[in-house]
Amino acid sequence: MQIINTHTHLIDTSVVFAENNKHQLKYLKGIPAFTDLDKVISMLSLENLLVQMDEASITKSVLFALEGPLLSASNQFVADVCQRLPDRFYGFASVDPNKKNARKNLEDAVEKLHLIGLKLHPPLQNFYPDDKKMWPVYDLASELGIPVVFHVGTTPFGNMVKLKQADPILIDAVANDFPNLKIILTHLGTLWHNESFMITEKHPNVFIDTAAYPYEIKEILTENMIMRVGEEKFVFGTDFPMPYEGKMHRIKDFVDCIMDLNISEELKERIFFRNFESFMQGLL
Ligand SMILES: [Zn+2]
Repeated sequence: MQIINTHTHLIDTSVVFAENNKHQLKYLKGIPAFTDLDKVISMLSLENLLVQMDEASITKSVLFALEGPLLSASNQFVADVCQRLPDRFYGFASVDPNKKNARKNLEDAVEKLHLIGLKLHPPLQNFYPDDKKMWPVYDLASELGIPVVFHVGTTPFGNMVKLKQADPILIDAVANDFPNLKIILTHLGTLWHNESFMITEKHPNVFIDTAAYPYEIKEILTENMIMRVGEEKFVFGTDFPMPYEGKMHRIKDFVDCIMDLNISEELKERIFFRNFESFMQGLL
């Protein structure tokens, strides 16, 4: 079976560990998810990601850029990986919504760098997704036909972030005003599961990725819930290299977890690749 991992990160270590950014790393120390920060960091190589993709039989992965602190990866950085390995990666852009040139940067990322989606992390980038200043960016994404991925729910970055900005309910106003904009919520909502499912159920163009902890996937992703929210709405993702359940990230754990769910083979195929392929339509 084909498997697409729709949620992965590589950070640009030359930026994140630059002297003037090192102070940001203190936000990660002491946070349970990052107890072994050095080990997480050592996983951040393209080679390691490819080894894990092969081990888990992942055909292709979506790699996210991030214009913001801690997880920095520029659009150019992501485009370079996609250009080197076009059979293994799709690239999604990032723009800083607080900068005036956000719209222009998105246009360049799509038209010049051939990135095919936009990843936004409201708490890490410090904005509210229902702030009207975002409308021109959503308008452009809608016009370009590319999806917008919103981080929703818990985020492990301590006092640096405001959880309120990660409330999935804020996406309702976006989806109301942009019925043609393709939207993906992340992590099955990370503890805002019900609200995320409400938004996904309500809006035909809102999808959700399964990059939650494996035990959450087992508890939440029941056949009844999938059928209620929409069998076409769930896409497989893992949030590589985020640690979970006190362990280092292993993509295969997430594949095994979905494989073991008490749901039909047809639903597993939908989650692993069919839903994402039809969601992306002509973009892949
Ligand atoms: Zn992520």
